[in-house]
Amino acid sequence: MAIEFIPPAKPIIGQEERDAVDRVLRSGMIAQGPEVAAFEQEFGAHFADGRETVAVNSGTSGQHLGLLAAGVGPGDEVIVPSFTFAATGNSVALTGATPVFVDIEPEYFTLDPEAVRAAITPRTKGIMPVHLYGHPFLVDQIEAIAREHGVAIYEDAAQAHGASWNGRQVGTMGDFAMFSLYPTKNMTSGEGGMVTCASETIARNVRLLRNQGMETQYANEVIGFNARMTDVHAAIGRVQLTKVDAWTAQRQRNAAALDAGLAGVAGVQTPKVHESAVHVYHQYTVRLDAGERDRIREALKQEHNVGSGVYYPIPNHRLPSLEKYAPGLDLPETERAAAEVLSLPVHPSLSDADLDRIIAAVTAVAGAGA
Ligand SMILES: *Cc1c(COP(=O)(O)O)cnc(C)c1O
Repeated sequence: MAIEFIPPAKPIIGQEERDAVDRVLRSGMIAQGPEVAAFEQEFGAHFADGRETVAVNSGTSGQHLGLLAAGVGPGDEVIVPSFTFAATGNSVALTGATPVFVDIEPEYFTLDPEAVRAAITPRTKGIMPVHLYGHPFLVDQIEAIAREHGVAIYEDAAQAHGASWNGRQVGTMGDFAMFSLYPTKNMTSGEGGMVTCASETIARNVRLLRNQGMETQYANEVIGFNARMTDVHAAIGRVQLTKVDAWTAQRQRNAAALDAGLAGVAGVQTPKVHESAVHVYHQYTVRLDAGERDRIREALKQEHNVGSGVYYPIPNHRLPSLEKYAPGLDLPETERAAAEVLSLPVHPSLSDADLDRIIAAVTAVAGAGA
């Protein structure tokens, strides 16, 4: 009998989610309504210290609308990492502002504070760090730089539901933070995003931009989008919200098992966690020798039926869509990470036997290249 494939990610949808969707569908009220309002309130209370929270139809929409709501536009610069999903830089570019790509530090794959400092100009409006893989960015140093230069922080918390820094939740550090609810993220609503806001003004602006610029029907105040979440999606998200803490704890236990099993395997560097950080392991990302990474990934799949992922193989400043913002830019740690990272399965559906299989497979495959 063939051994079962271990996928790199696996959304968990239970009977409760199906029942919640059915309840909304039967009500006949499907578009944004009371489920969305309840989900916003519950999400903000759970993940952002009660901050005013606005639901939208994707994380990318949330990031784009959050930036517009914070007044970012043509002539402004926003500092972003290049080692991230393209949505980070895209959302800045979509406002008409310029994404300024800077390098990461090598320990946690997050924005390098010294590189951020060096990239600040009189046009810098804000810094948008990413809590990459579920590990918070270097909050103390980035906040100090933002304060010193009078620039804002906008958080990309797409991958970091429940992560924290010295007891402060991610999602409470910026003028706004965006969380994604895409199926492979730590919790899902199908598609969706949440914007947690530091001020009532930003929250109101996001609400206006989400719904054609209207607060009162047909009294359109500004030019806006339709970026609304449906009650169907909110119903899924509300159920997931009751389960996500247990899933996060399981991700952390799985990561600890992988750390222990892979410690000392030559050529495999397990992920580091900063002493101030709580990591929620959206991804469990190891570093491998650049010349070995693709061989190891292929052998895990072909010989052991173990899935894995490369997040992200092409730095954003070299994407055809975004390279015009970074002509000739050299970001050595970003390039090195893009060539070395491999994310192993860490999702909460893994059994102990799965974890043993992953560890045995990586150990066998990593040793085979020498
Ligand atoms: C997923 C993700 C986004 C975008 O979220 P969507 O819900 O897919 O639009 C933005 N930034 C990062 C780092 C992400 O992982």
